[in-house]
Amino acid sequence: MEIDKSKQYEIIVFPNQDDGLKAQRVLLSKCADFKHISTLAVVVPEEHKEAACRAIIDEDVLVSGHYPFLYRDYEEDFFKKAHEYKASESSGEFLKSITLCYVAPCMADEKKIRLIGYFDRDITEILPYLNAVIKGGSYNKGASILTYAKERRLINLYNIKITIAKADDIIDAWVILDEVKKLVSNTYSNRDTIKPNYEEKVKVTALQIYGWLPKTNCRACGEATCLAFACRLLLGEQKLSRCVPLSTESKFVENKKIMQEMAEALGVA
Ligand code: SF4
Repeated sequence: MEIDKSKQYEIIVFPNQDDGLKAQRVLLSKCADFKHISTLAVVVPEEHKEAACRAIIDEDVLVSGHYPFLYRDYEEDFFKKAHEYKASESSGEFLKSITLCYVAPCMADEKKIRLIGYFDRDITEILPYLNAVIKGGSYNKGASILTYAKERRLINLYNIKITIAKADDIIDAWVILDEVKKLVSNTYSNRDTIKPNYEEKVKVTALQIYGWLPKTNCRACGEATCLAFACRLLLGEQKLSRCVPLSTESKFVENKKIMQEMAEALGVA
């Protein structure tokens, strides 16, 4: 299938190569319109997305999710990178795989994606070591969550899962997952030389919190501005639930979830 830039497309993502290859066999057998971009993802016309997903799932093939293909400006580069991408192979490492189980567009910015991946084993024991290694992270020992930002992306490491918000696209997501896998395994290998940090660091700034707020300065929370709300939230003097648009407007659902996780990690939920 050739991409027609005047049409809308979706990227369907698979959790592993086996499911990706099986899915492509199913699509071929149904003579479906699709473009192979990788063993881990395909592009289909937006109007055929539901039928393609149904056909794949009916054959017991796992689908991680899908999101609109809107990357007109770097399309060719995207296809090239997707085609060349090879999931990092590992043997004998602490973390052998991260299975991408959920992919969807970010609610507040549909050009970005959010995702959930599951580790092949519990990393709780490594979190204090990662807390020592990752600069600017925020660790909640009780809840076993380590939160940190990689540029504009927000990454949460839990005992058995990782969530990422605001990844650029699926290639960006794959690269981050590979980096995290390597980081966890290397940290485990080097743990004898790392002093574990059990401190619950609060490194998130008011400006970072402000970035996830609706930024309308509507005053419904009782503060004059969203930035004032962010400052008071950080001090534990405000509650996230007092931000009315965040709690009530569907376009902020994703931001609310991220803010809740961040507030929990900071102990100001
Ligand atoms: S209610 Fe939310 S959007 Fe309105 S001013 Fe307060 S923080 Fe900003």
